[in-house]
Amino acid sequence: MRRPSKPSRVLPAFLALAGCASPAVPPPTVALPAATAAVAAIEAAVPAAQPPIAPPTASGDMIFDAWASEFQGRALAAGIQPDVLAREMAGLTPDPRVGALDSRQPEFSKPIGDYLRGVVTNDRIAVGARRAADTPMIADIESRFGVPRQVLIGVWAMESGFGAIQGDNDTLRSLATLAAQGRRRAWAEGELIATLQIIQSGEFPRARLRGSWAGAMGQTQFIPSTFLSTAVDEDGDGKRDIWGSSTDALASAANLLAKGGWVRGQGWAREVTVPPGFDFSLTEGPREIPAWWAAKGVKPADGKEWSYNDSEAPAQLIAPAGANGPLFLLLPNHFAIRKYNNSIAYALGVGLLADRLAGGAPLSKPWPQETSLSLVDRMTAQRALTALGFDPGGLDGVVGMGTRKALREWQKARGLTADGYLSPDMVARLKTEAAAAPAS
Ligand code: CA
Repeated sequence: MRRPSKPSRVLPAFLALAGCASPAVPPPTVALPAATAAVAAIEAAVPAAQPPIAPPTASGDMIFDAWASEFQGRALAAGIQPDVLAREMAGLTPDPRVGALDSRQPEFSKPIGDYLRGVVTNDRIAVGARRAADTPMIADIESRFGVPRQVLIGVWAMESGFGAIQGDNDTLRSLATLAAQGRRRAWAEGELIATLQIIQSGEFPRARLRGSWAGAMGQTQFIPSTFLSTAVDEDGDGKRDIWGSSTDALASAANLLAKGGWVRGQGWAREVTVPPGFDFSLTEGPREIPAWWAAKGVKPADGKEWSYNDSEAPAQLIAPAGANGPLFLLLPNHFAIRKYNNSIAYALGVGLLADRLAGGAPLSKPWPQETSLSLVDRMTAQRALTALGFDPGGLDGVVGMGTRKALREWQKARGLTADGYLSPDMVARLKTEAAAAPAS
């Protein structure tokens, strides 16, 4: 998850959580037998009708204390030992900052080009190159997981500024606050139980489990369930130290990408050009090999051939800043990066940083000047699309896949460039057309 200052916070996908696309997975090697035994012990010792232990918190916040009281039964059922639970819940209070951040809805969306200009900077590329050179085990990590070091450095840069900005919140308290608030209760409780499992296993005490307000921890910004399922002890000291060990952090990131389907030896995307009059309604559509796209005039922007491995890969066209911005054919590895954080902008940031770290040139087509859209603009466009019979799949002000698809269909029906890009001009046209349409 992002730190508050990170630009992706304000992108539509700002709530996408690192690793949360991976389902909660039982802990791999830690604590299960002991936890199972603990549950059996509790079941044997405690009559079912009686609360197993005293109410865990007395924070003075009625909603929080009521939630904590109910949660303890679920935590015990999940195998958390009563003494661990009682110790960690004692004195726990909700964190008011977490509540405020979680309910924040940004007023203006940040244009993707502005975001990526801020991500892919010469300074960051220089620091990334130095950090790669300072990490001797990166070659081993690369060969073991099949993920290029430049991609790992790109993830490291995006997640924590190469480990410099990890967040200093008590992960257990942050997740308890989110769980008590209830908007994402099932998710937050699952992560809270994973946090308790880490503590119970003895791998790290609670004091070490620091992270973002949304529960993402360490240099990799792993949520606790992802830590349990995916973190790696690469330096061999017996602990998967994603906070203090860059080697462990980079291997853990590589493991997440490998589990997300990273294809060894393939790229992640190519910048492409299209011929005049191209049908942009193909964006975010079919996944076809580069030769299929070449038959439609879609070619690498640098004029170079596709590598053999890439030429065999199904590729999807995107126009993230519209028809006037850079265009990309996304290879399967783009979608592996999206397992880390399911945001096109995030994955482009990682990939474009990686390309530059590997010595690649800047984009042949720069990001165009874009205009921020207000929440009202975005919701107005969604309402207009709905009224005109093009269902965006919700009126939440988030311009996601559904909104872009509806927009492309409306653009195509009106003879406009069907790139699915919501510009101020498109908002104005939609508003005018919807106002003129007869009420249904
Ligand atoms: Ca280690």
